[in-house]
Amino acid sequence: MKHASEFEAKTLDVKSLIARPGVKHSYCTSFVPQDSWVGNNPYAFGGEGKLQVDVWFDEEDINVVGTIVVPMNYVCSRCGSNFEENLFIEVQEVLKSEPDEEHFTYKGNVVDFDKIIGELVASNIPQQVLCRQDCKGICLICGKNKNEESCKCGQNLGKNNPFGSLKDKFN
Ligand SMILES: [Zn+2]
Ligand SMILES: [Zn+2]
Repeated sequence: MKHASEFEAKTLDVKSLIARPGVKHSYCTSFVPQDSWVGNNPYAFGGEGKLQVDVWFDEEDINVVGTIVVPMNYVCSRCGSNFEENLFIEVQEVLKSEPDEEHFTYKGNVVDFDKIIGELVASNIPQQVLCRQDCKGICLICGKNKNEESCKCGQNLGKNNPFGSLKDKFN
């Protein structure tokens, strides 16, 4: 039974929170990321994501503060290799009862976390990712992944470039 209900709509009834302003409720859920959230990026999701937030009413709005973690299968923007890494998203949202352009809303005392998770993940997918901070990339001449093996293309280039010959004259 528990398993069957795991991926049902992620909603939270906040009626009791509205009745007691300032009282925090921890809400935690896992979710299955949808492929469309990665947009045009060549990435895939590596499994279930997790949302962990505190939810409370502050006399006016519903506050949702916490984190979303999603395992990602990335493609390095520099060398093209695949690597796995978690995407961490800080959640800090103010939910209004009346719709406006900047905030999520809650309707009839219900917070729809499906919508919030989908929009936050989609808008936080990075455009550029590196397999490591100092990724050396691909040699544009021989095509080797310079993280894995070095090549001598850079040295040969030195001989052919005008600054290389200029340097010879001074030597
Ligand atoms: Zn790389
Ligand atoms: Zn090379």
